[in-house]
Amino acid sequence: MSNYIKILPNYLIKKYKVWKATVYEENKDWYNKIANEGQNPQAMVISCCDSRIHATSIFGADSGEFFIHRNIANLVPPYNPDGDHHGTSAAVEYAVKTLHVPHIIILGHSHCGGIINGYKMFNGDQISHESIFVDKWLKILKPAYENISKNKNKFDEGRIGDLGKESIKFSINNLTNFPFVKSELNKKKLVLHGLWHDIGSGKLETLDPSSLKFVKI
Ligand SMILES: [Zn+2]
Repeated sequence: MSNYIKILPNYLIKKYKVWKATVYEENKDWYNKIANEGQNPQAMVISCCDSRIHATSIFGADSGEFFIHRNIANLVPPYNPDGDHHGTSAAVEYAVKTLHVPHIIILGHSHCGGIINGYKMFNGDQISHESIFVDKWLKILKPAYENISKNKNKFDEGRIGDLGKESIKFSINNLTNFPFVKSELNKKKLVLHGLWHDIGSGKLETLDPSSLKFVKI
């Protein structure tokens, strides 16, 4: 195994040293406080793995503020306690049952490779890669794809943008089927939010609970 391991590339070591000498040094007391007192995040964020998406950056969030789970296309799978490994469901369980977060935010985004691939897969288009895990994961998108296909005239963002936004609604719905989430929702100790971020324009839209449409913030 040691043949495969190297210390960090120099550019990362340099970046770390700058952070340690500036951001860390200026906020040393805060880092010590959160180290000793433990985390008490105000929200769980479920966002895409995409390197262009940074929930902490667009909200100017501090360490300790968000409990973040990232996966391809920011999806929440259906509740399925089958004894298999479920990373996203485990993160949701920990956030809700142990950390008692009062908010769960699903943060989708434009130009999402996962959504594009899911769209092509269901649309019968040729996909240029073979995957063991990605295509299977993207099958979570199927009900959202079927829904936008049924309601062709209802959507206007372009089919892929529509699928991205529709999938956020399905992920929220899947969350409500986790018994421990449902119980906190019923006790009004937890609320769910859907957000969609346009990378190029910086636009942020939020899912309006009355119209179930995304509206600009
Ligand atoms: Zn993405």
